[in-house]
Order: sequence, then structure tokens, then C-alpha cells
Amino acid sequence: MDNKPLTKLKSVAVVIPMYNEEIGIIENLTQITQMLRSYEKTLKVSFAFICVDDGSRDLTPSLVRDFCRHTYGCELISLTRNFGKEGAIEAGLVQANAADAIVVMDCDLQHPPELVESMVKLWQSGIDVVEAVKIDRGVETRSYKRMASLFYQLFGKLSGIDLKDRCDFKLLDAKVVRAYLNLNEKNRFFRGLIQWMGYPTAQIPFVVPERKGGGTRWSVFRLFRLSVTALTAFSSAPLQIVTVLGVVTFIVSVVLGIYSLVLKLLGDALDGFTTVIILLLFIGSVLMFSIGLLGVYMAQIFNELKRRPNYLVNERTSYTIPSGQAESQMDRHSVS
Ligand code: UDP
Ligand code: MG
Repeated sequence: MDNKPLTKLKSVAVVIPMYNEEIGIIENLTQITQMLRSYEKTLKVSFAFICVDDGSRDLTPSLVRDFCRHTYGCELISLTRNFGKEGAIEAGLVQANAADAIVVMDCDLQHPPELVESMVKLWQSGIDVVEAVKIDRGVETRSYKRMASLFYQLFGKLSGIDLKDRCDFKLLDAKVVRAYLNLNEKNRFFRGLIQWMGYPTAQIPFVVPERKGGGTRWSVFRLFRLSVTALTAFSSAPLQIVTVLGVVTFIVSVVLGIYSLVLKLLGDALDGFTTVIILLLFIGSVLMFSIGLLGVYMAQIFNELKRRPNYLVNERTSYTIPSGQAESQMDRHSVS
């Protein structure tokens, strides 16, 4: 008899956030699950799939619910409403807490599932974070590329963290996920925080393929909001702008004050009205800008203080054993 001890396969959970993805979601999920299953034998790992429906208002949840009921190792968590990708990723990471490693990937095949094979191999060689880095941003418009590059330059300068060409397509060891979830802050910028934590990291370059199923889910407004939150969460440098502006306005007022005084003494005073209006407008704008900047940071503090969860789970559905034993559980309005 063979008495070799049974070695348990390492488990890798794949977290897939999705929002209004009814076009093509089943084809994409089928491709992802089938491709990763085909790697299981050679990699000696078992994959589990955690689909996080981020409050879709189309057929995404019902399509994916059905898919998960019939696909082994696949489960769906539905959030009560759209909390944004960051919240959806967090929900998936919490749900995947028993896995040995976790991969986060988009559901639109812009994060090619074939890369997961190399990611897992690098992880097995002892690297804690494997991140996919874009070498070509694909079909994005030129203005979008320029905006993204501006944001990453600014982010790099202000926070000292280089996020250029990074994305959320990453493999994380379980200890990295634990550390991430144990961070105290509520406002989370996934790719920034993972880099900030500084675990040994390897990179895999990839070319972003075309999106499968509809267009991007990000509006310009949402991207702008995400950029402001990310910048203010990682750097307090913009607050110093207020001090700099104060110093500049003070210097300008001293120079202008001396100049006006000299002219007055020489009996050649400036015609006052225009100067007063320009000065009022200048100081007014500086004050408004400064108050606005302080307001952005106050809003961050306000949001942190409330300590509201980043997401709420409405429903969980997992693979149903064919014999009919239902494993689907519905925890309506449970707080995570
Ligand atoms: N997504 C999400 N919640 C949102 C917006 C997007 O879960 O509020 C998901 C989306 O379904 C996709 C991934 O995040 O799986 C990336 O979105 P998208 O492809 O629209 O972004 P892009 O590739 O244009 O950066
Ligand atoms: Mg995409």
C-alpha cells in the first residue's frame, strides 16, 4: 500500500469585480474559468472564483448567479448597490480569506487570464506580490492616456510611489491580503496601498487587449473623484500649497503696499479703483482655493471618522451540488 502523505493543494482565489456587464459576461467567465482550470494540474493548485457584483442594474447578477450554481468552485457575492471597484475588490478579498493566494482581475478580459500561470509560478518561487504592468495601454483615446499619465506623474511626485502603468491585476499572497485588510484606513486605493506595503514584488509586462463586452464603466467625473481621493489619501503635500499661496500673497502685498505708499508720498498716487478690484479678486480666489483644498482633506477625515463599511453584501450564491443539496445561501442585508 502507498503510505505517502496526501499533500493538500494550495488554493488560489480569483476575485472578479463586475458592474453592469451583462454583454459578454458569461463568455468571459467561461473563458477565465476554463483556462485557469486547465492550469491546475501543472501548477498543482486549485482555483476558486469569486465574482463580486458591484450593484449592477442589468442582468449581470442573475446571469452570474446561474453560472455560479452550475460551475464548480464559483461563487457570487452581490453588493446592495454600486460601491465602486475599490469596495468590490475589498468584498472579494474578505470572502477569499481562506485562500493561500488571491488574484484580482477584471471581468472584461482586458486582464488576460493566461498571465495567471506565470503569476502563480512566481508566487510559488517565493514572491508575495506579482503585478501585471501595462506595456501598451491598448485602445484608450489619446486624451485619456495623457490624463492617466498626468495623474501618475502627479501621484508619483506627491506620494513618492510610482504607479505608472500599474493596474489592479495582481496576485497577492494570503499574508499580503491579511495585512491589507488589517489597515485601519477606510478610504482604500488598492494599487497604491499594495505598492506602499512594500512586500517583495515581481512584475509581468502585458499588452492591454480590447475590452470584451461594452465600454469602460468609468465616467470622467468618477475618474476625477478617484484621482482626488487617491492623491489626498497618499499625500498631504497639497495642504502646503495653502501656506505657499499665503507667503506669495504676503510678498505681493508688501511690494504693492510699499509701491503705493511711495507714489502717495510723491503725490503721484495710482488711480485706485482698478487696482482695488484686481487685488480683491486675486485675494478672493486664493482664499476660495485654499478653503476648497482644506475642505477636500476635511471630507476625507469626516469619511474616515464615520467608519462606515466600504460595501454591504446583499446575497451570496455558490455552486450547487448536482444531487440537489442546495448550497446557495441568501443573507439579506448582512453587514460585512
Ligand atoms: N467595475 C466595478 N465597479 C464599478 C466600475 C467597474 O466592479 O463601479 C469593474 C468592471 O465591471 C470591470 C472592472 O471593474 O470588471 C474594470 O472596469 P472597466 O473595464 O470599466 O475599467 P477600465 O478597464 O476602463 O479601466
Ligand atoms: Mg476594462
